[in-house]
Amino acid sequence: MAAIHAPVPGRVTGIQVGRLPDGGESSSVVLRLGGSFDRLGKRAEKYLWNSMARKDILSSLRDKGVVEAEEPGRPLHELLASFSSAGCLVLDGVENEPWLRTEAAVLAARPDEVAEGLGILARVLEPSRIICLMDAEAGIDTAPFAEAARTLLPPLEELKVAPRYPRSRKAFIKALLARGRRGTPELPAFVVSPSSALAAFEAVSLAKPFLERYLTVGGGAVLHPAVLKARIGTSIGDLIAECGGLKGRPECIVLGGPFTGTAAADLDVPITKTTKAVLALSAPETRAGREHACIRCGRCADACPVGLDPEHLLRLLEKGRIEEAESFGLPRCILCGACAYACPSRIPLAQCFAAHGARAEEGR
Ligand code: SF4
Ligand code: SF4
Repeated sequence: MAAIHAPVPGRVTGIQVGRLPDGGESSSVVLRLGGSFDRLGKRAEKYLWNSMARKDILSSLRDKGVVEAEEPGRPLHELLASFSSAGCLVLDGVENEPWLRTEAAVLAARPDEVAEGLGILARVLEPSRIICLMDAEAGIDTAPFAEAARTLLPPLEELKVAPRYPRSRKAFIKALLARGRRGTPELPAFVVSPSSALAAFEAVSLAKPFLERYLTVGGGAVLHPAVLKARIGTSIGDLIAECGGLKGRPECIVLGGPFTGTAAADLDVPITKTTKAVLALSAPETRAGREHACIRCGRCADACPVGLDPEHLLRLLEKGRIEEAESFGLPRCILCGACAYACPSRIPLAQCFAAHGARAEEGR
């Protein structure tokens, strides 16, 4: 568990059942806005993380409520504590899904802070390799980040990669680390996004809790798509209004990426620490349509990035042959949604696999 903090100043007026972005419910604290947002004009004091002990860095991350800034949002201090052997630290600045610009924007807007966040994680992990992956097609100047990171972290490897969708982060990094090292033992890799590295920097160096994050607000139904910095708990309706509002009625509003995101119940649901995008999609973008019978075209198998045969898995699951589906690779499904997107019969394959216990890919 990670600590939680009020994202705005105010007074607690109650505790009630609140709605989560995915339509679920959870206890929530109601705040009446009041007081001041800043620290009475004082400049934030900076703590010297490069002389801090490992346990103090972990305590700081826990107390400031830092979790991974993407699903599944596991507490960063727990992940770091469970990763004892020095292996490889990877900063992954490449999005796994189209339309998302969050990580590129963080690298462009906060290069020094992301580099320091990476330095903090490197101090805990003492990795033998540090690799920075950057999106070759994001159109941002990564030189300021590279320069800041090289000053702090001398043995740095920078790689610009072209994005490919869907992308299995785990499989990609495994292949990357194995390159040119055939026969040598696999290096354990700790993978972190620029947003998570930024949150680590703010927690440890500025003693600032995880109160706000960058996120993409886009999709064909948003008037002026943008990457915004927003407080945790801001309603998605307010974010869309900040981008000029909607162009007509969206077909659906998705929290997260277009392949793996979840449909938002309505515009009042809040963003959380793991919401990296709010996408208001138009009808052509969702490729909405009625479900038809499978025509055995094989497009779902061609689209699957982990080599599964989704149509065969579906048939097994429909017949209740779950163990057989598992032996045919269901646990390897990363729920990327590519099969459902490719299917001309609009069969909700990925939703079916999720309902039968396939688990979204874990980043490390
Ligand atoms: S959702 Fe699962 S089965 Fe479908 S393409 Fe992605 S990994 Fe393959
Ligand atoms: S893409 Fe759809 S229609 Fe084609 S084989 Fe797969 S499930 Fe059947």
